Amino acid sequence: MKKRSLSVYIHLPFCAQKCLYCDFASGPAGKEEIAAYMRLLTKEIRSFEAISSLYRVETVFFGGGTPSFVAPFYISQILNQLRKQYEFSETPEITLEANPGTLDAEKLVTYRKAGVNRLSLGLQSIHESELKLLGRIHSYEDFLESYEMARQAGFTNINVDLMSALPKQTMGKWKKTLETVAALKPEHISAYSLSIEEGTPFYERYGEGRIGRLDLPGEELDRAMYHFTKEYLGSQGYRRYEFSNYAKKGFESRHNMTYWTLGDYVGFGQAAASYLQGRRFSNPAGKEEYPEASRTAYQRFRAMAPQSEKEAMEEYMFLGLRTARGVSREDFQKRFGKPFPKQYEKELLELYRQDLVEQAGGRIWLTDAGIDVSNIILARFLLD
Ligand code: SF4
Repeated sequence: MKKRSLSVYIHLPFCAQKCLYCDFASGPAGKEEIAAYMRLLTKEIRSFEAISSLYRVETVFFGGGTPSFVAPFYISQILNQLRKQYEFSETPEITLEANPGTLDAEKLVTYRKAGVNRLSLGLQSIHESELKLLGRIHSYEDFLESYEMARQAGFTNINVDLMSALPKQTMGKWKKTLETVAALKPEHISAYSLSIEEGTPFYERYGEGRIGRLDLPGEELDRAMYHFTKEYLGSQGYRRYEFSNYAKKGFESRHNMTYWTLGDYVGFGQAAASYLQGRRFSNPAGKEEYPEASRTAYQRFRAMAPQSEKEAMEEYMFLGLRTARGVSREDFQKRFGKPFPKQYEKELLELYRQDLVEQAGGRIWLTDAGIDVSNIILARFLLD
């Protein structure tokens, strides 16, 4: 029987210190807490043993949190456990998120030995004032040191995370960040706009109705930064392949493409999300709930009904239209055994007339103008 492709996400919810804008399931922890978490995580991975033989692992992604914060032998242990359970592709993509200030040469060597072949470095900005404002623990110099060490350790596939639309950020400062990072020639750059999330110190300062909100770049500047990013990175050989992700040819994140193309993925750890056999489920975000959730994850997955065809069609459109490849009538027919619903054809025709979507060779994707109003467009693919 042909095995299905699988992507595996491992959530490691530990950080040296909480950044001021962050609402991820993450925070500082001591050695004991980390060790206890790793035991639960390994058990959770093992609990899916009954279905492991159906899959071949194509990608693994260690996210968080700051996976480089924990002792590196944990990364080897988890990969060993996964390899024990699953057949791996001959060329798996194995990514680890790492933050400057938490990396050293020894860790990098251990990661390489364990099979990690892609690093994702959280930089956000090259400006000390912006890093400080965000509550990041590192300087730009720390990042440079980590980047050089990673290259020396043999990493030939590196992503750098950047963030625009920061309080008081000017176009000039954003340009400088992009230019400086592109000059280092990482293979991949993720560039997200800051989002102000409730429950964070940033929300208290910059949230709805707060005086600090005036420091945030307005919608117009935010969009101008976004357009500049595509234009500038394009001139440096990076193609935008998803709303916020840019890659040199052949370095698109295979793991993230699984998410956007409705491939199978399973997430282990606190707050980890899965989409497996048509079932969408996740572990709770609270660390108090994880011990129980980790023990029952497999049973919860088995007990869950697959999503309806209507939900799957809607997701196919929402997620596929985030990518530069867009969606295709042929893929849709293959996946659902039927052509696009009439409602979609009607919406697409209208969007096409307004230059918000483009099409060629059976594929349909959002234009730049379409991406600017993507929230409104994507809502039009909810089926009646
Ligand atoms: S390093 Fe990342 S996960 Fe950790 S607190 Fe900062 S933004 Fe959140």
